[in-house]
Amino acid sequence: MSDLASTLKPALRGRLITREDPDYEAARALYNGMIDKRPLAIARCVDAADVISAVKAGRDHGVLIAIRGGGHNGPGLGSCDDGLVIDLSAMRSVRVDPVNRTVRVDPGCTSGDVDHATHAFGLAVPFGIVASTGVAGLTLGGGTGYLTRKYGLTVDNLLEADVVLADGRFVTASAEHNADLFWALRGGGGNFGVVTSFLFRAHPVSMIYGGPIFWDAKNAKAVMRAYREFLPGAPEELGSFVGLKTVPSVDPFPREHWGKRACAVISCYAGPAAQGEKEMAKLLHSVPAPLFNWMSALPLPAMQAMFDPFFPKGLQWYWKGDFVKSLPDEAIDVHIAQAAEAPTELCLMHLYPIDGAVRRIAKDETAWSTRDATWSMVIAGISPDAKQAPALKRWGRAYWQAVHAFNLEGAYVNFMMDDEANGRVQATYGPNYKRLAAIKAKYDPDNIFRVNQNIVPARA
Ligand SMILES: Cc1cc2nc3c(=O)[nH]c(=O)nc-3n(C[C@H](O)[C@H](O)[C@H](O)COP(=O)(O)OP(=O)(O)OC[C@H]3O[C@@H](n4cnc5c(N)ncnc54)[C@H](O)[C@@H]3O)c2cc1C
Repeated sequence: MSDLASTLKPALRGRLITREDPDYEAARALYNGMIDKRPLAIARCVDAADVISAVKAGRDHGVLIAIRGGGHNGPGLGSCDDGLVIDLSAMRSVRVDPVNRTVRVDPGCTSGDVDHATHAFGLAVPFGIVASTGVAGLTLGGGTGYLTRKYGLTVDNLLEADVVLADGRFVTASAEHNADLFWALRGGGGNFGVVTSFLFRAHPVSMIYGGPIFWDAKNAKAVMRAYREFLPGAPEELGSFVGLKTVPSVDPFPREHWGKRACAVISCYAGPAAQGEKEMAKLLHSVPAPLFNWMSALPLPAMQAMFDPFFPKGLQWYWKGDFVKSLPDEAIDVHIAQAAEAPTELCLMHLYPIDGAVRRIAKDETAWSTRDATWSMVIAGISPDAKQAPALKRWGRAYWQAVHAFNLEGAYVNFMMDDEANGRVQATYGPNYKRLAAIKAKYDPDNIFRVNQNIVPARA
């Protein structure tokens, strides 16, 4: 047993999984099958005490530390080679306070875990569009989804976080306590410590009117133009993103459309179905007839989990992102041309709205700063086949290269791989980067937490 393991194992209530353990291969596997990291040990923590022991042991033994929430991160920043993974996946309880409309969430929860718990009370927290995504990484990076226009980013609904710092101290961060840390956590990623508990504000959302509408790619230009004009006037209850994709060649998609290049608008109206239908009609009246329109009344958790079956753990993923201010016709043409080159059916480009409630918070009020963008763009090359990895990367990079000139400098940190050019993280945080670097120097001066989109501690 290594020195690290012999120190840490007896200190944990949870398991320490090392390379000799029969469960090691399963325990190290990440959501993105393209990432193949081999940590020295995985500390499967069950409480804050375990996390404190793991941070101290990792630091004292001088090994690299990675923090794993849901393990969904594109470049696999929830793990590392030859270091210690602080794995929070066993910490999955959720406690709803229906009186105060708040939710206490453990750091290993998926957004589906929280949706399940809050829905019973007619409440919801704004999360992303795939329910198997980890709450921890999604929140700390920002968090965009169907409820963003009405209720803000996930991070805009964070009220408090418990954090184990790089020196092993345990603190609570909120508007009242350690306010600088609280500011940095709201968008600064896993740079500042290990969050062991989140407290969120929840909202009265239960039944929604939602689902996908697909058009043949020959109508993509008309749909993207109409969507661009429609979105700013649409009520904030309507979370709606546009994407370029392929009709999956699987049930329940209509066989006659399998494999067709397509443009999709995927929407969720957080209100009565009749009202949602009326709002969507304004878009539908201005574009050609879709291939199919599957919008209907649904419980919010069903909408949130709608795409989970298409994206099981272990697929190959290559991610590129940008923030987008405007979508001129020339950019739409480039998008359509690049999307048509996608090497697999699962490849996609989505534009998620950044407006409404997001813009009502000042750019310097949280670390997450690009509040004047209109969309957060993601290009994702996806395939079940590892042999396709080079093609996914080639396509993603070429697509991004072709559209980036129309976009802003930075990107959502949760849509980046780890091969971005120097300066992308700084560009993303813009004027907030300097303050983040100073807070990093205060809470993690030795950059113990550096397996992330890293904020380098400011020099004294
Ligand atoms: C299929 C899919 C759909 C997605 N859809 C959306 C979407 O709709 N909206 C959106 O905003 N994002 C979306 N994302 C991106 C998602 O936000 C990121 O992948 C995010 O990193 C996932 O968090 P995680 O906890 O699962 O990741 P992990 O891989 O566990 O961790 C990711 C990062 O977060 C840090 N971290 C994790 N837990 C903690 C903790 N407790 N304390 C401190 N740091 C921690 C780690 O250091 C690491 O850098 C999607 C991702 C996937 C794969």
